[in-house]
Amino acid sequence: MPQQAATAVEIVDVAPRDGLQADAVTVPTATKAQLIERLVDAGVRRLEATSFVHPKRVPQMADAEDLMAALPRHENVTYIGLVMNRRGLDRAIDAGVDEINAVVVCSDTFCERNQGTTTAGALAVWEDLAQGAREAGIGAGVTLSAVFGCPYEGPIPVERVASVAAEVAKSGPVEIAIADTIGVAVPPDVTERVGAVREIVGPDVRLRAHFHNTRNTGFANVVAALEAGVEVFDSSLGGIGGCPFAPAATGNIATEDLVYLLDRMGVETGVSLESLCESALWLEELLGRPVPGYLSKAGGFPRGRD
Ligand code: ZN
Repeated sequence: MPQQAATAVEIVDVAPRDGLQADAVTVPTATKAQLIERLVDAGVRRLEATSFVHPKRVPQMADAEDLMAALPRHENVTYIGLVMNRRGLDRAIDAGVDEINAVVVCSDTFCERNQGTTTAGALAVWEDLAQGAREAGIGAGVTLSAVFGCPYEGPIPVERVASVAAEVAKSGPVEIAIADTIGVAVPPDVTERVGAVREIVGPDVRLRAHFHNTRNTGFANVVAALEAGVEVFDSSLGGIGGCPFAPAATGNIATEDLVYLLDRMGVETGVSLESLCESALWLEELLGRPVPGYLSKAGGFPRGRD
């Protein structure tokens, strides 16, 4: 049965973590909190706020605890913390995150470089993290990374992606995110891989997509994912960030560009394009350079004359 495209989707803004983690500009904790508040004010209800990884590995995220303490809490806003191991989970729980996100890379070589273990090793870590999160009463989601290609191994067989998805589903994730970590996918790949994951995990697991616009195909991929039944999309304000451990893999899709696309397609997001554009310009000031997103430059659909 073909999946029905959603008429409303959720956006997870990843700018505070994925966006800033490798930036040359060190952003003070209070300014990160301001960024998050701006996104919440624009209507974003889920954010990847920070990560609980070793501060030597990702110095930009060394203030994870301080940031969580500085954030205003809202009943309907979920702050997600990225964790890689049990130590990170304990820190995230103590810091009061609402949800954790773990990563399982679909290729062994990339997984080794990113997490120091194979895909099988990362699956075991995920299982442990999911259990720990459950015991702490918080949600746990998982991102399948390098779903469409690996910088070291090249193509990743769709069967491998499906079998990794089947494994992660056993621990009851709040959702499974499918990430094009190096930005190589085109729409037919998305249709195929989302379909394969859906088939193996069944209809009840929510699917999320994380696209990079590295080769300018990110937004075409969003449309394909939407049509394949994906209900949650990651994006970052201004399109900042990417993965620092993947060579030349820059370019999260920009939240403001995503909201324009979805608005014009009649898909509800609950997020204000105008607010996002103002914040993207604020972000340019902060980083001292233009952001990759288009909408803060072009503006929304012209209103015309009254
Ligand atoms: Zn990303």
